[in-house]
Amino acid sequence: MNISFENKVALVTGAGSGLGLATARAFAASGAAVVLADWDEASVHAAAAQLTSEGHKALGLRCDVSDDAAVEDLVAQTVARFGRLDAAYNNAGVQNALAETADATREDFDRVTSVNLRGVWSCMKFELQQMRKQGSGAIVNCSSLGGLVGGAERGTYHAAKHGVLGLTKSGALEYAARGIRINAICPGLIWTSMAEQMAASGQADALDAMLKSVPMARYGRPEEIADMVLFLCSEASSYVTGQSISVDGGFVMR
Ligand code: ADP
Repeated sequence: MNISFENKVALVTGAGSGLGLATARAFAASGAAVVLADWDEASVHAAAAQLTSEGHKALGLRCDVSDDAAVEDLVAQTVARFGRLDAAYNNAGVQNALAETADATREDFDRVTSVNLRGVWSCMKFELQQMRKQGSGAIVNCSSLGGLVGGAERGTYHAAKHGVLGLTKSGALEYAARGIRINAICPGLIWTSMAEQMAASGQADALDAMLKSVPMARYGRPEEIADMVLFLCSEASSYVTGQSISVDGGFVMR
């Protein structure tokens, strides 16, 4: 199975922590030159410096994906530094403020959708402009379990993540005959700093309740998300496009 990224260039947004960081590491370990983007500048610079010190090609850039011009510049800087763009994982995301729909605010709706939905759209737009020129490329968008089911007090987040699947399928149709594949992943309950923070802030019971719904009875590891992203960006999935793959220990089949 060919999942080498030797001589390939990968871009990961939200690469400062969690799933994005694990995926950037996996791309680097598979031979790619990697651009790590996050609005938290310190975290991406530290991560890129660490990868570089391990002998990988890595560049850390600050980018707020809700800012179109910043995303355009991110892709331009990627191409200026490494010459092309072969794989992109659009992962940057935020959570909504928990509130039932009657109490949710317009401000929170705009904040969440500007990153989780419009941010993915912007990333796709500028990545595809480059990939279209090349006539090749693979994009993976980070949706969520929340892109497949409803969630009380999480309507805004779930709506944005459902929307990511619409962008994924539509883009996949547009570019299927032009050498570019676009897929999405739907992570379930993954042990990241967010879960750690929930556990530390008295929400351990909520986490336990969610864990009870996972048929595999454990959290996923960020590396297990990274493996799926690399598979979907690699030649090993060369006939796969427009799909959403759940990586959730069996959660959605219940
Ligand atoms: P997980 O742990 O599941 O990966 P996080 O919320 O920790 O989830 O990770 C999301 C990443 O996306 C974080 O590194 C965060 O800084 C980043 N991020 C959030 N909003 C933006 C944004 N507007 N632009 C770029 N990166 C963002």
